[in-house]
Amino acid sequence: MRFMTKHETKNMISDALSAGRKSLLEPEAKALLSAWGIPVPKSVSGQWSVVSGLKDVEPVLKKLIPPFVLKVISPDILHKSDVGGVVVGLKNEKEIEQALNGIKISISNKAPHAKIEGFLLEEMASKGVEVIIGGLMDQQFGPAVMFGIGGVAVELLKDVAFRLAPIKRKEALEMMKEVKGYPLLTGYRGMKPVNIKGLGDIIVKISEIISELDGIKEIEINPLIVSDKGIIAVDARVFLK
Ligand code: ADP
Ligand code: MG
Repeated sequence: MRFMTKHETKNMISDALSAGRKSLLEPEAKALLSAWGIPVPKSVSGQWSVVSGLKDVEPVLKKLIPPFVLKVISPDILHKSDVGGVVVGLKNEKEIEQALNGIKISISNKAPHAKIEGFLLEEMASKGVEVIIGGLMDQQFGPAVMFGIGGVAVELLKDVAFRLAPIKRKEALEMMKEVKGYPLLTGYRGMKPVNIKGLGDIIVKISEIISELDGIKEIEINPLIVSDKGIIAVDARVFLK
């Protein structure tokens, strides 16, 4: 998928809404993030790759740096890894081919009714802290932004911070300090502190997207991988009104 302007992301959402769709596909959601200045993994044509068969993988491979991640693209699958729809750490064409077949078999077993739109092949981000940033349009309070660290802490312990959107970076920094996992960001067990200011900027951007883009009910980056070296949104979901 080519690079989009902010204006084009608005058109993409209104087109999806007129088509009666309830969500954006992962490559669309990532194109949106990218247009709003949030880094996402590279794939074909500099940004994305949606490949629907192995013959399409070849030209893509030359433009990407291994290791790769292969994911299923389906409007019917919310949690791809729950149904074997994500394979990380792929080093070459042969491994991609095996992963592609593995995903197809797994989906046909675990989500037989899911419509498969294609596959996303992207660069694998290096290790870091996995955080979650969400934006939601609350019926009562209006746009809000959410921040949490790590899957279990967020899903099980609800260790998250909320603010009404839009926010400034100062408030984003306060949100980070509010969650119990904050020490993970400042250098835990010999890890280098992550880029906290950069992370704050991304929380601000999500608060702007949910405030300014009509038609979005909920947007979520889960996870954003953040380290001392970089910040990258490796999974994104957008639900429409
Ligand atoms: P889902 O949340 O739908 O199961 P994700 O796209 O979040 O699928 O992938 C599952 C996990 O795989 C992520 O939480 C992350 O740990 C890892 N992952 C996915 N994509 C990448 C990537 N490009 N680079 C590094 N890790 C990734
Ligand atoms: Mg995810």
